[in-house]
Amino acid sequence: MKIAKNSVVNIDYTLRNPGGDVIDTSDGQGPLTYLHGHGELVPGLEAKLEGRVVGDVLDVVVEPAAGYGIRDAANVMQVPRGKFKGMDIEQGMQIFATDESGGHIPFWITAIGDSEVTVDGNHPLAGETLHFNVSVRGVRAATEEELAHGHVHGEGGHHH
Ligand code: ZN
Repeated sequence: MKIAKNSVVNIDYTLRNPGGDVIDTSDGQGPLTYLHGHGELVPGLEAKLEGRVVGDVLDVVVEPAAGYGIRDAANVMQVPRGKFKGMDIEQGMQIFATDESGGHIPFWITAIGDSEVTVDGNHPLAGETLHFNVSVRGVRAATEEELAHGHVHGEGGHHH
């Protein structure tokens, strides 16, 4: 069966930067299972997986706009250190702000000064061209329950 919206897909992948350094890989942690067409992968990679079948191996280059976005300097902010009182913060840590509708907006702590903390709303891979090597290991239709929940159940997914 071909990968289409609402397929549960199993892939092995390695992500490298343009210099060839491995940034992330499923090697050693087992294949990644995701629900296709729900924004779980970066858009540029999902688009290339559409229509693929088990056994396909792809090399995909994803430009920043179809990856983790273009770096926007306006998303970098200085926050008084006192705002983090009682929190055990460290550089590289991901934190979440809550917007008016209760959504969670991710930020990354990029520097910690004596009086101010630098927080960056850009994903750490924003602005990066992403080089993926992907092997399709499994494709199946999602169950109705999985679609209702918006995520995969069982192996590689949620257990509840
Ligand atoms: Zn669920």
